[in-house]
Amino acid sequence: MVPMLSRSILLATAASLSLAPLGATAQEPVSVVATVGMIGDIAQILGGDCIAVDTMMGPGIDPHLYQATAQDVQTLNGADLILYSGYGLEGQLGDVFARYAERVPTLAVSEAGIARDDLITTDDAYGVDPHLWMDVSLWARIVPVMAAQLSESAPDCAADIAANAQAYEAQLAALNDWTRQTIASIPQTQRILVTAHDAFAYYGRAYDIEVAGIQGISTQSEAAIADIRQTADLIVEREVPAIFVESTINPRTIQAVIEAANQAGQPVEIGGELFSDAMGDPATAGGNYIGMIHANTAAIATALGGTPAPLPPALADWAAQWSIQ
Ligand SMILES: [Zn+2]
Repeated sequence: MVPMLSRSILLATAASLSLAPLGATAQEPVSVVATVGMIGDIAQILGGDCIAVDTMMGPGIDPHLYQATAQDVQTLNGADLILYSGYGLEGQLGDVFARYAERVPTLAVSEAGIARDDLITTDDAYGVDPHLWMDVSLWARIVPVMAAQLSESAPDCAADIAANAQAYEAQLAALNDWTRQTIASIPQTQRILVTAHDAFAYYGRAYDIEVAGIQGISTQSEAAIADIRQTADLIVEREVPAIFVESTINPRTIQAVIEAANQAGQPVEIGGELFSDAMGDPATAGGNYIGMIHANTAAIATALGGTPAPLPPALADWAAQWSIQ
């Protein structure tokens, strides 16, 4: 039985709250807006209860083409801190954030944490490949940058944020090692990752797997017939057993490649759906950054003839949380 509060107690509570604005302000979580889940998830882990994160682009949303909604503008207007990736990932939204930066702390976390020299260059308008989260050791560099910025926004929480950052960096180091080990289990000749768009170049470079995207770095142009034929030829030549669809990309292109390869006599199947530019549902393991990389890596290794390595002790808590063996 829940005791009923009398009307007078409620009124007294309301009065005391309104009389203590300073105390209320100190308890109020800092309102953080992040563009993609791969940033929002990490911000929340670092900031804990001291911050409340609003992620603009949820599961299945393509950041390259994203346009801010009226709701986003309202959310951004109420933000204490805005975190985006930069290096062209968010397309035209980059200009929008440059304007917000004039009146609210706004940080392009990749640009602040990852040096241009470490990026893979491209010949599109942006000149660099923005899919940096695919290399865990690179993405880990946004952690100290974000921790410093969050501590500035929530100074009372600085010690907690530093401790959270240290613990999370240890998890990412373990995830990086596990990913490299798992990809190395794929037989060398089959170590080739064919996906719809070029989101996996950093993954390929970091974990020693050849990568072929049917379509370019951004999703702005449709794959041409020539791209589809070229990819099918590669699959036939290398006897690739499986190729992958992406959660943010229309699977039509992949289907066209599979049909072309099958017609040329190479049986190829869909090895699973990979998270490329967005994480999965927050209620699932793939809905956080560690889980996104874990799910992708396990799917790639399994479909191409490898075996996922045992999870390291540093990821035991994460695995237990999501009931992963
Ligand atoms: Zn992309």
